[in-house]
Amino acid sequence: MGKKLLIHNDHVPNIHTYEVYRAHGGYASVEKALKTMTPDQITDEVKKSGLRGRGGAGFPTGLKWSFLAKPEGVERYLVCNADESEPGTFKDRYLMERHPHALVEGMITSSYALGAKTCYIYIRGEYFYVSRILETAIKEAYAAGMLGKNILGTDYSLDMYVQVGGGAYICGEETALLESLEGKRGNPRIKPPFPAVAGLWGCPTVVNNVETIAAVVPIVNMGGEEYAKIGVGKSTGTKLISASGHINKPGVYEIELGITVEDFIYSEEYCGGIRNGKKMKAVVAGGSSVPILPTDLILKTAKGEPRLMTYESLGDGGFQTGTMLGSGGFIVMDEDTSIVKNLYTFTRFYHHESCGQCSPCREGTGWMEKILQKFISGTANESDVDLLWDIQSKIEGKTICPLGEAAAWPVAAAIRHFKQEFIDVAKKKEFKDVKHYFRLNNLVETA
Ligand code: SF4
Repeated sequence: MGKKLLIHNDHVPNIHTYEVYRAHGGYASVEKALKTMTPDQITDEVKKSGLRGRGGAGFPTGLKWSFLAKPEGVERYLVCNADESEPGTFKDRYLMERHPHALVEGMITSSYALGAKTCYIYIRGEYFYVSRILETAIKEAYAAGMLGKNILGTDYSLDMYVQVGGGAYICGEETALLESLEGKRGNPRIKPPFPAVAGLWGCPTVVNNVETIAAVVPIVNMGGEEYAKIGVGKSTGTKLISASGHINKPGVYEIELGITVEDFIYSEEYCGGIRNGKKMKAVVAGGSSVPILPTDLILKTAKGEPRLMTYESLGDGGFQTGTMLGSGGFIVMDEDTSIVKNLYTFTRFYHHESCGQCSPCREGTGWMEKILQKFISGTANESDVDLLWDIQSKIEGKTICPLGEAAAWPVAAAIRHFKQEFIDVAKKKEFKDVKHYFRLNNLVETA
């Protein structure tokens, strides 16, 4: 059984309430931090822990915190990115729904470390019911003296607010999130300046993912060095994985980084193998934007080594033969899955969610959707595979924010590893059931 640090109290009834959470050791990190540690000491512990951002990019959290500008007399903010919208990713929802005080506690300890007097949790609009759970937890924390003026009798004071977004995927990009939080349309900003220098209301701001902030709690409690002993290499600690697709046991799992992908998919402790005794065809390991890998490459690297659930091992081979841990949205596809249909669904999503500021993303995602729709409706030619490849290759690195790449990478990987399937679909005009398919998926034909 792997170590659990974030959802270890899953089995405890009413752990979402302050009373029960506190009775099970909750808010110990706030007591320890505010009463015995300086803000810089906490940042040092986070650095020692090796914690990397759990939202997708995997940037070292302690380093990100150390970039925060600290000019005299200027407010600083901590903003929690709870705009979890990446298809296949639902682990932050699980954490907030069942363990809201773990996030509130992490927010208090992290805000103290950063010198923030106000912090925000920006949550996606579709998680409205979760925002109510968080608001209740925050209210309980105020009543218990964990928020507000002079927390636990110290001279540190903090206010915390929940802001519900309007339901746009792009608001998960940190600068778009800040624009939205300021009451504007959620368009990503051109960087630099980065939020650490000019973030919310032009003030220095740290934006961290839900799971990242919750992980600060065990780091402060156990110490950064102890935390770093869990995991492998630069992939330290535990990670929440949202497992979905054709597996026997879909759900949210907390794993120790470093277990093998094979163990994660086939062991009874986690996914329990492929549904209905089918064979596995492919896996999207880190949310819909990371490159899909066929079975042989997800289980073993191109060097023949077992693939591990770590940032480094999943990335081994670059995008030619590897992928990314990303947000931990682990989607398993069985032998009956159509890669073409799957890619169409993903691409349609990115086209719909493009904010439209830059042409390669705005136009490119639309063109890719239209070409994929030709495959789906049986009107594609073999040359459309090359056209699709050409369009995706003109998006990466040419946009303001990573959404362009998020749309291009899945297309590139699908063609790289499953090109013959695209050609076969084009030759056979395979999907004669297109009307039925569109009806089933509540889609509108645009081609
Ligand atoms: Fe908007 Fe797409 Fe450009 Fe990002 S890449 S700023 S989503 S148009």
